[in-house]
Amino acid sequence: QVSDTLAKEGLDSPSYDWFQTDSLVTIVIYTKQKDISLDSVIVDHRDDSFRAETIIKDHSYLIHIGLSHEVEEDFTVRVAENVGKIEISLKKKENTSWKCLGVPLEKHNLLISKKDTGLYYRKCQLVSKEDVTHDTKLFGLMLPASTHLQVPVGQHVYLKVTITGTEIVKPYTPVSHSLLSEFREPVLPNNKYIYFLIKIYPAGLLTPKLDHLQIGDFVSVSGPEGNFKISKLQELEDLILVAAGTGFTPMVKILNYALSNIPSLRKLKLMFFNKTEDDIIWRCQLEKLALEDKRFDVEYILSAPTSEWNGKQGQISPALLSEFLKRSLKNSRVLLCICGPTPFTEQGTRLLYDLYFSKDEIYSFTA
Ligand code: FAD
Ligand code: NAD
Repeated sequence: QVSDTLAKEGLDSPSYDWFQTDSLVTIVIYTKQKDISLDSVIVDHRDDSFRAETIIKDHSYLIHIGLSHEVEEDFTVRVAENVGKIEISLKKKENTSWKCLGVPLEKHNLLISKKDTGLYYRKCQLVSKEDVTHDTKLFGLMLPASTHLQVPVGQHVYLKVTITGTEIVKPYTPVSHSLLSEFREPVLPNNKYIYFLIKIYPAGLLTPKLDHLQIGDFVSVSGPEGNFKISKLQELEDLILVAAGTGFTPMVKILNYALSNIPSLRKLKLMFFNKTEDDIIWRCQLEKLALEDKRFDVEYILSAPTSEWNGKQGQISPALLSEFLKRSLKNSRVLLCICGPTPFTEQGTRLLYDLYFSKDEIYSFTA
């Protein structure tokens, strides 16, 4: 059944092989796909169980093995993008020759539809917690040395915490440590930190618990989910980001990526809706960026400003959008991304269609 689905999508079934030297065991995954990168594979090695999940379109290809011998905690992952080959090199604890790689575990060597794969969690340690606004904090989590996980631009993960015996799971969108820190500086191959901007709701179920975590405590983090693909950004001329409150979070990496990697980009506008000035996340950084990079503009729209505010105010509306959302050139290649509370995103998406943007030109982040 899976191979039928794959054939329809023009996919070949992936395969794997392994080889060894005195000190290394290398597992090679042949994805038979060209658009494979370091964020296409998630590797977790715990005790003697080794798990490598390769994301291929809407499927996961799993290598899941109880290794026959012990290996060191850390390993290296390399990807040959042009041939779709992934190589994972494990360091042997003892320089003996392995007769076999190990025993197959659940779903090993299977290609499964992503919706049937289930979320896999690893425990990450809280290494930093900084105030960003009166209610929003930047949390820094460190991945275990035995995990390789990079969350693709525009995608989210689930955080899981157990509260009085009940597991609470909610989605959060990783950001970079600061605006423009990720793609301008070389990305370290072993990028071990994941950052989250999280608003604490005093009456919320999960966020007060996250707020009370101490440095050194652990939180379970799932693999990435979401449909956004950076290929949407290729060749763009205008990028318009419409965010409300923490709906800003997916925009952070999109903005970083577009300004650093899309040479055709002429204009990037952020329309940022908040209740008050005090709610604006990373306002100083946004203004610094607007001064430094002439392609970038930011406009704040407040729904509950103080009397001193002389900027734009109100809720998302046709008048506000049409004033701000102009293409830099007639018929320019444009993408609009919108994210915020569900009614905001639904209303905004409808209004954007009405303003003559086509379906392909709008990406809505929804629950
Ligand atoms: P909840 O218990 O959900 O409550 C939230 C607020 O609603 C509280 O003020 C609570 O009092 C109120 N409330 C709850 N139930 C009711 C009710 N029945 N009637 C009236 N009021 C009610 N958030 C971030 O901060 N950062 C992110 O990066 C981020 N990324 C996300 C990515 C995705 C794909 C999605 C869907 C959401 C994302 N969120 C993000 C939101 C996040 O998942 C949580 O919904 C949020 O943190 C609130 O969780 P909570 O359990 O603390 O609050
Ligand atoms: P908030 O309550 O501080 O509101 C921010 C702004 O959103 C307001 O100033 C207003 O302009 C607008 N807004 C709020 N409610 C509205 C409504 N009913 N109709 C029209 N406009 C409205 O926002 P917050 O507490 O920061 O919440 C952010 C929301 O974004 C959360 O619901 C979160 O789940 C969502 N989110 C979604 C994703 C995703 O990827 N899907 C990612 C991050 C956050």
